[in-house]
Amino acid sequence: MDIKPKHLIQTIIPLIVVVFLSLSYVGYSDLKVSRAAAYQQAKDNVSVANEYLKIHFNSVENHLYLLGQILVRDVVIDEYIAMGDALIANQKKLSEVGLYSQGSYYGTHGIEVHNVASKMENRPWYNPNSKVGESYISPIYMSRTTDKWSVTVVKVIEMANKQLAYILLETDVTELYKQLALLKTMKNGYVYVVDVNSRQIIMHPDHSRIGSLSVSVEPELLQSIQEGETQGAIDGYMYKMRWKFSVYDADNAFGWILLSGTITQDITSQAFNLGAVSITLFCVIGIMVLINLISKRVHNNGRLLTEVDGLVALDQRLNAMIKDLVPCESVILFTYNEDHHEYVDVHKRYTFSQETVERFLTLDKRQSMRVSVSNRNDLIARHISPTRAVFRVPLIINEQLQGIVYLLRTPVVLPWFVNIYRIYAQGALNHVLLRQRIKNKDQMTNLMNKNYLRSHIQQVLMKNQTGYYLAMLDIDDFKMINDGLGHLFGDQVILSVAEKLKEVMPDQAIIARYGGDEFSIMFMAESRIAADSKLQALRRALSQSQVHFNGKKASYTVSVGFAEVQGELDSVISLADNALYKAKKNKPSKVCLHDMGYGPCRYYQCDDDLNTTSRKSDECLPCGNALDSGHAASRNLEAV
Ligand code: GH3
Ligand code: MG
Repeated sequence: MDIKPKHLIQTIIPLIVVVFLSLSYVGYSDLKVSRAAAYQQAKDNVSVANEYLKIHFNSVENHLYLLGQILVRDVVIDEYIAMGDALIANQKKLSEVGLYSQGSYYGTHGIEVHNVASKMENRPWYNPNSKVGESYISPIYMSRTTDKWSVTVVKVIEMANKQLAYILLETDVTELYKQLALLKTMKNGYVYVVDVNSRQIIMHPDHSRIGSLSVSVEPELLQSIQEGETQGAIDGYMYKMRWKFSVYDADNAFGWILLSGTITQDITSQAFNLGAVSITLFCVIGIMVLINLISKRVHNNGRLLTEVDGLVALDQRLNAMIKDLVPCESVILFTYNEDHHEYVDVHKRYTFSQETVERFLTLDKRQSMRVSVSNRNDLIARHISPTRAVFRVPLIINEQLQGIVYLLRTPVVLPWFVNIYRIYAQGALNHVLLRQRIKNKDQMTNLMNKNYLRSHIQQVLMKNQTGYYLAMLDIDDFKMINDGLGHLFGDQVILSVAEKLKEVMPDQAIIARYGGDEFSIMFMAESRIAADSKLQALRRALSQSQVHFNGKKASYTVSVGFAEVQGELDSVISLADNALYKAKKNKPSKVCLHDMGYGPCRYYQCDDDLNTTSRKSDECLPCGNALDSGHAASRNLEAV
């Protein structure tokens, strides 16, 4: 089977989903297993604690029996206390042996008090209703003798002298708990004990909590225990901002609830590793989806960018695209004007010469970059945003800096985004410039075309600007050049005229190829006379130029008609056209203003090759005389 990369790529998403689901399932199962294990461990700990306490209290009962036997045989209190002293000396958790009978209390540590019947009523271990042979455990209390939390097992006996006696053995609960403290449930869990009647904590690893009310054992739980539900679990309760659980067992003779549990985090952390992998995977998928969404958005915007057909629309879309994707106040687009060698923003508020721009935007700095306020050799940035950093995106087309986009008030933008933005902006600018070129430029000479010129004349007329002149210029006897020297030579003559026009006319003049061998120029001059002399100079320069091509050479002349730019567009053009027509009628080459009263002029420009063409020989003068004649001609222009 032929496995191609695209087949593998297609399996990526399903694979990620399967891995994610598997990990989630394993994580969930693990959580369940951990939870069951935690509950089981807590249950086991409670059982062990139960057994341990049972053994302890059994042994206490046994001790009490033996102690009681001393008094039952004969009332020898000294012997009783001596045996008690031996007992508590042997076992640390047993803190006091006592005897109370007929208002007198005898205890280990040499205690002997008489006539204390009234005081005995307040002792926590004292229960006047108990009968001979009965034994019970006292509530928890702070021992006066040892100053420790204690419980006492009390047994009521009848002594040899038939008197009733309370014999008692006190247990230090903190000592008793030392063994239970070893019973750990998971990482943080422990065993603790609560009194079923008072809800008081009897044993706890935090000794400061002994004697206080339990948080986990609530009155409802006590109720259900009393109703017979002696074993179970408290699934969730909050203590010190942490969730906990406990397993309990109240099935014992001491009237205590034994509990063991831990914080739920102990369970979740067991399953955390797999959970973390699942979450990471989930985040990765999330990021992938997010990137996919963003890049779709970027490319959608980019596609819209390539559909624009003018610089203003491009500027608007660049603004819309950036604002859709990153925080940015505005975008300013500068484009290169090759006629005037300057960079101008779309709304023509700022203009910077090519020389100025190239001073700070050297070849090595043509990557997108942030221009900070402190680094301000970028004159454009200084002008458009004097106090805030900007982001500069140079637009390079065919290795030439055709535009610059400045992003104003934008935080740091991601490089990959700027790159895509730049690629789309460059493509769109290229597209717009090409469209403009096709629409406004003459493809052969690279001069502007008739459309462009007409729209510019219109602009001047609309703004009522004065001092502009429109000249129409036509190559004399161009057909003869074509016929005599070939069309390719004729093309070279057209190109030569275009070059000369650019060379001689000022930078601000708009030079257009009107069509065929006809050119037009809109330029500024202080007066008609000044305009006329500019055109005379142009005509002279043209007549002096020679075209060399394919081993042939030729000179040529042009006729010029011009008119001042005022009134209506069509009338300006037709006046200039008429003037050209008159100039033509009065060949040879001359400049005619549509309403100036110059006298007739004569000017012949011949070439050796042209002499052999069909041109009437009497109109040709030797070339050497031509310039002089031309000079003379310009002084004798004909009234039109
Ligand atoms: P006149 O002195 O009265 O202007 O005479 P002319 O021979 O120059 O006549 P006209 O201006 O009417 O002729 C223009 C000729 O230019 C007609 C056309 O064949 C030729 N032509 C137009 N465009 C081109 C071009 O791009 N290249 C060449 N070689 N010839 C062209
Ligand atoms: Mg012509």
